[in-house]
Amino acid sequence: MCEGRTIIDDRPNSHSAPQPLPKRQFASDNYAGICPEAWQAMAAANVGHALSYGDDEWTRRACDLLREMFETDCEVFFTFTGTAANSLAVATLCKPYQSVICHEFAHLETDECGAPEFSSNGSKVLLAPDQAGLPAAAGKIDIAGVEHLLRRRSDIHYPRPHVLSLTQATELGTVYSVDEIQAVGRRARDLGLRVHMDGARLANALATLHVAANKITWRAGVDVLCLGGSKNAMGIGEAVVFFDRDLAAEFDYRCKQAGQLCSKMRFIAAQWVGVLESGAWLANAQRANRAAADLAARLRQIPGVKLLFPPQANSVFVELPAAAVDALHRRGWHFYTFIGCGGARLMCSWDTTEADITAFAADLRAVLDSA
Ligand SMILES: *Cc1c(COP(=O)(O)O)cnc(C)c1O
Repeated sequence: MCEGRTIIDDRPNSHSAPQPLPKRQFASDNYAGICPEAWQAMAAANVGHALSYGDDEWTRRACDLLREMFETDCEVFFTFTGTAANSLAVATLCKPYQSVICHEFAHLETDECGAPEFSSNGSKVLLAPDQAGLPAAAGKIDIAGVEHLLRRRSDIHYPRPHVLSLTQATELGTVYSVDEIQAVGRRARDLGLRVHMDGARLANALATLHVAANKITWRAGVDVLCLGGSKNAMGIGEAVVFFDRDLAAEFDYRCKQAGQLCSKMRFIAAQWVGVLESGAWLANAQRANRAAADLAARLRQIPGVKLLFPPQANSVFVELPAAAVDALHRRGWHFYTFIGCGGARLMCSWDTTEADITAFAADLRAVLDSA
């Protein structure tokens, strides 16, 4: 994880900036910096004193803006990370002997180091069987598979399924359509499950679907949404949005106990105010999605490159020969090959440029040509 790290100037009292990576990367949308709207709002919050622990005006405004966006009187909390947001949400929804069903590639399962189980004192994560072999369904919950899982066991020895977790946009860069998410969400509720949504990239899904946020959240049966800030263009901070207010009871204590109650909350909240009031939250996602579509179009023109899934949000998954992956890494490109079922994941962010795409495509062409 450390190769290509920024070089920190460690002379005493030096305020010179660390040397940046040589170029913008396609490794993750969290490689990108903070967008001007969030940055300026943080500066505006950095005037005088304010009440701490979320009792300030910025936090009140951020919560109100989220209520406006979802067009409902939801309850909102902020955490430092998405892992904390997901884990504390699951812990709130489940008793320790209850379980949460998710996709095998869900962040909850693969990228949180067991935090959901840890936070919930043992709620087990169960993997929903996948719609095997259908690229369009990649990363999405197959509700028939969930029903099968529920029917198979209901005895005292089995961890009791209680929550279904969905990720929108998915970890594989696909997006549930409005009909798909509503069908899955409503069926889950009919089956007696609570619905959690990992919306680390909900903005990217909304940018693709062009619908009101309520259509793919609470109107689709979602009880609790973990809404992404840092993958969008904030520096830090995620929102936990309870559409069922009863579920939010004492969630503030859970956040505090987990070390997730930020004392200078206004600096997390101000970023949300900055990106929501300006519309940058959606515009950032639109830019990232457009970059991914452009990148996909460029890569399709290169012989020997195969796209693995339809790019519907801000990532493009491609199958590349191992030698090409190594050669691209040697040319200084960072990207992951361990997400989902392999392939190279190329992730675009709010500040990805056409020049970045051209440079990457040219290098890929060159390494394939010389193979
Ligand atoms: C990045 C991400 C998160 C949050 O991750 P943290 O690193 O804990 O902030 C959650 N879900 C998905 C799908 C993500 O990609």
